[in-house]
Amino acid sequence: MKGRIEMRHCMMLVAGLFLCVAVFSADDVKRTFWNVTTKQQLIALTFDDGPDNNCLKLMELFQKEDVKATFFVVGKKVKENPEIAKKIAEAGHEIGNHSYTHALLPQKTPEEIKKEIVDTQNAIKDATGQEPKLLRPPNLKQDDKVLAVLKELNMKSIMSSISPGDWDKKKTKEEIVETVVSKAKAGDIVVMHSWRNETLEGMPEIIKSLKEKGFKFVTVSELISNWGK
Ligand SMILES: [Zn+2]
Repeated sequence: MKGRIEMRHCMMLVAGLFLCVAVFSADDVKRTFWNVTTKQQLIALTFDDGPDNNCLKLMELFQKEDVKATFFVVGKKVKENPEIAKKIAEAGHEIGNHSYTHALLPQKTPEEIKKEIVDTQNAIKDATGQEPKLLRPPNLKQDDKVLAVLKELNMKSIMSSISPGDWDKKKTKEEIVETVVSKAKAGDIVVMHSWRNETLEGMPEIIKSLKEKGFKFVTVSELISNWGK
């Protein structure tokens, strides 16, 4: 009798362990990422609202500094600047989806949400040959309708753990740099905007300071692949 109970407990323990491994190792289980749990000194710089000419300037710097970044692009802007999107992809940076019209997705119907995302996927695919795996919802706003569409499309939602608030024109270059450099820790996802010139101007300093702290700059998908490592 005693042996039987122990056997049952043992099986429950094994089942529990299996569940834990399934939850923490399969990143498909997790749909929304604010940051990534990792012991490695990795960080993901992300730039929203392109593709624009500033993306090209950023990439010049990134090539010199051996930085990989992620650009969350707006579908209708990809249609306007397909060659910039192509250059981003060719340089080995990651391209993510930032909706077609920069729409506040929770205000849309499920059909409209799907169209915003799929039209952008198609624009990016036409321009680069690649199909993004990641969405950054405009203004970081999502709801269950958005998550259902992402599940259907097998995409992840990427929020952020550091926001220097560079969308706010009152923020100075120094404030943007200070926020990123002082807050940075392993596994962080930083949200910035390519249209903001002060962000561009502060980028050499951000890269230099974070390199001094031992950081390596990776794409969001690479960061996620280091979950738990
Ligand atoms: Zn945006």
